[in-house]
Amino acid sequence: MQTDAYIGLGSNLKEPAAQLAKAVAELAVLPQTTLIAQSPFYASRPVGPQDQPDFVNGAVWLSTELTPHTLLDQLQSIEQAHGRKRHRHWGPRTLDLDLLVFGNQTLDDERLTIPHRELPYRDFVLQPLLDLNPDLTLPDGVAIASLRSQCPDNQLRRLPPPDYP
Ligand code: ADP
Ligand code: MG
Repeated sequence: MQTDAYIGLGSNLKEPAAQLAKAVAELAVLPQTTLIAQSPFYASRPVGPQDQPDFVNGAVWLSTELTPHTLLDQLQSIEQAHGRKRHRHWGPRTLDLDLLVFGNQTLDDERLTIPHRELPYRDFVLQPLLDLNPDLTLPDGVAIASLRSQCPDNQLRRLPPPDYP
């Protein structure tokens, strides 16, 4: 069975936009998974500690036969391949991949909370989701568009598309 899954991408170290572009290519070739669309990238001020570079964020829409936990395993191995080191909470990172929405499923265990816990409060997550699918709703019926209109503003700046050679 195919499920629509939305993944949030973020980076603020080592050429963030290039980290994200590479991660999108890696997500596109995951087993039993198809890339449906990728959002534009956005720059934003960091959440939490301010003594770190701006973030670049985006999202992708996948269709997958993987389970949520197997998909998380795959996301974490991509993070590791990008040299992700876990230091402080909300600190700088080369690549953060979050499983934002997984079909109409809700889940809350020691590894995984779906929909992602912080999703309603982050414009840099909500805006790329809206770009991907303006009609997207959470399992409880709340529209991403309505969350976006209520969300605090984090000085989101849409980045121009990369120059292709
Ligand atoms: P954050 O993304 O909150 O800055 P991390 O990327 O270091 O933090 O993730 C910390 C933990 O969050 C992971 O070990 C993972 O098990 C857990 N987690 C819970 N729900 C999710 C989710 N929806 N997507 C990704 N990770 C999640
Ligand atoms: Mg994460």
